[in-house]
Amino acid sequence: MSTLEKEVNRRRTFAIISHPDAGKTTLTEKLLLFGGAIQMAGEVKARGDRRRARSDWMKVEQERGISVASSVMSFEYDGRMFNLLDTPGHEDFSEDTYRVLTAVDSAIMVLDGAKGIEGQTRKLFEVCRLRDMPVTTFINKLDRESLDPFELLDLIEQELALDVTPVTWPIGMGRDFKGCYDLLNDKLILIEKSKGDKPDEGVVCEGVDDPKLADYIPEHQLEKLREDIEMVRELCPAFDQQAYLDGTMTPVYFGSAINNFGVRELLEGIGERAPKPGVYNTVEKGGIDPLDPKVSGFVFKIQANMDPKHRDRIAFFRMVSGKFKRGMKLKHSRTGKIINLHNPVLFLAQDRELAEEAWPGDIIGIPNHGNLRIGDGLTDGDTLSFTGIPSFAPEHIQTVRPEDPMKAKHLAKALQQLAEEGAASVFKPTIGSEWYVGVVGMLQFEVMADRIRTEYDVPCRFEPTSLYTAVWVECDDKHKLKKFIDDNRANMAEDHNGAPVFLARNSWRLDKAKEDYPEVRFLNTREQT
Ligand code: GDP
Repeated sequence: MSTLEKEVNRRRTFAIISHPDAGKTTLTEKLLLFGGAIQMAGEVKARGDRRRARSDWMKVEQERGISVASSVMSFEYDGRMFNLLDTPGHEDFSEDTYRVLTAVDSAIMVLDGAKGIEGQTRKLFEVCRLRDMPVTTFINKLDRESLDPFELLDLIEQELALDVTPVTWPIGMGRDFKGCYDLLNDKLILIEKSKGDKPDEGVVCEGVDDPKLADYIPEHQLEKLREDIEMVRELCPAFDQQAYLDGTMTPVYFGSAINNFGVRELLEGIGERAPKPGVYNTVEKGGIDPLDPKVSGFVFKIQANMDPKHRDRIAFFRMVSGKFKRGMKLKHSRTGKIINLHNPVLFLAQDRELAEEAWPGDIIGIPNHGNLRIGDGLTDGDTLSFTGIPSFAPEHIQTVRPEDPMKAKHLAKALQQLAEEGAASVFKPTIGSEWYVGVVGMLQFEVMADRIRTEYDVPCRFEPTSLYTAVWVECDDKHKLKKFIDDNRANMAEDHNGAPVFLARNSWRLDKAKEDYPEVRFLNTREQT
């Protein structure tokens, strides 16, 4: 087996999806603990807070107690390399989250045992489904009163139309929560032995009828466990690796992240069963296999000011194939230019570290001054345009003006950069001097105004507009597209890439345009190529 193949086989790149408060941050901390990446629980948030406190625009986020910034954490456990991509939890930043999900091979869905499937979880799950992504479920907070485990399985099955199969099964809940029975390994794992950083090693038994179990669990709970397991085996399908990989079945773990309980089983499950880095599609060559020796990958996220000491931007680059070495020169597919990667960064949980080498599935950060955009491909060979990284139709549109009219140019520059970062869609109308900014969540306007003021020194005002929607227009026939643009000059704009956008004042206008120009396609999402 080649080194490339070995490195690919041992990598797991995943994200956690959940509704705010379900326990994503806590679970992340505990997962990192296993990787030895951080010493103390509580570090993830504390460290993040300190870093954020230095950056002014993040105040908005702090005041609201939400996490805007996604980051990447890499850690090793049991010979495997895990890359955990964090996703912002607040619904106003879902566009960013969606893009992060294009860069992972599987996801962990965290549910609060008392609440079941909540709004944000459902939305994010739908994104996973679009990509047929394997999803592993972790039902958290069993140390509190929760819904009945059978009811929880039922909710997942009904609401998400997924087959469910428990891997572990809880024994009691709330104050009576004793631990879990590991159905795949026939092992009893006890919570009281799991306190602190080291989880219980577990008691191996010969099925639930093993008399040994009585030494650990009170009689009435043991009886219930036996009944439950019998029912589980009757009602739930057995775990099916292929169904899981196809995204039609989710293995379910029960636990309590805060007590570091059930986390190791979850991590081992991801290690053993979650997919290794997979094939990504391109326009030019179709699927690119990770074992293709030529380095390739794409940018899925841009973030400004991660480190307040450096006023640069970091492009998050997902390695798709080949072995990357520092100092490599890669071709930028959009411009054909050669980019020298002499100071890429890896995201080890401790801190940013210079990347010496990286393999498919790894994420590297590429510092740049704005030449890299979301969706851009980099290769050490042919031009490759990766498909499937969506740009979402803005749901809210406002105009923006500088408070000082002399600063219009500065504002334009700020908007261009923020649009490239993926923070918002920015449209410049063909006629008129104002800009339109489109976002997925209203809160983004506030964050943008704050950033434009602090990072670009341009105080500005966002104001509501009567615009109904902005849609990208495309047509196979260039002349017909030009005719449409010419006929509708007063309602046309360009996005930050120069792509034509139709600004519809009301739904009637949009319908009329569709009727009058049947060859033109009006698109709500635009793939960034
Ligand atoms: P996030 O918003 O999904 O990142 O959730 P957090 O990890 O910040 O957790 C939200 C709240 O739930 C915090 O107060 C945690 O201490 C608490 N929490 C997390 N996991 C557990 C758990 O297993 N049991 C209990 N009782 N509380 C938990």
